[in-house]
Amino acid sequence: MIAYTMDGNLYLNITNRCTNRCCFCVRNYAPGVAGYNLWLKKEPAVEEIIGEIGDPSLYREVVFCGYGEPLIRLDAVKEVSKWLKDKEAWVRVNTNGLANLYHNRNILPELCGIVDAVSISLNAENARKYYKICRPQFGPESYNHLLEFINESKKYIPKVKVTVVDIPQIDVEKCRRIAETMGVDFEVREYGGSRKDLEQCGC
Ligand code: SF4
Repeated sequence: MIAYTMDGNLYLNITNRCTNRCCFCVRNYAPGVAGYNLWLKKEPAVEEIIGEIGDPSLYREVVFCGYGEPLIRLDAVKEVSKWLKDKEAWVRVNTNGLANLYHNRNILPELCGIVDAVSISLNAENARKYYKICRPQFGPESYNHLLEFINESKKYIPKVKVTVVDIPQIDVEKCRRIAETMGVDFEVREYGGSRKDLEQCGC
């Protein structure tokens, strides 16, 4: 499934690749969300994504999200976002915030004017815990780059939010204070798996 609706929004699933292996990731315990199977046989081309969107005015927001990290496909996100903005859609990107490490440059200026909102997974109150829970391929320094990504986002994207998943390993209140200090919105997301799923992961 490339495009699916939920709560009045349209979600775009454009890749299954990710630079993290988070212990709470939905991919560890379900084939998708809301009954949609989100494993892709192949990554959709830009034309295919646009074809799946149809009329964007039908939705409150059009959201690039996972079953993977959408900013790995930066060029596709930019092309589709430009098309969406021409149609006056509201565009959000859900990201793990490590795209600057992946692309080895600051990609946020490239999203300016074509992305309205970004939702960035924080998911830990410090670097050591982030490395343990989210297992980023870029190593223990990833968390500092993630914080930098959040700060850079504020310069280029009108609405910036950070999120955490409500699992016992994460100190939600400390994360909330980090968001407040950084001057961005904060949201706690419900964990959809079982305690056993988390235990198996060993985080
Ligand atoms: S960043 Fe998102 S898609 Fe990637 S492993 Fe973590 S929860 Fe899953």
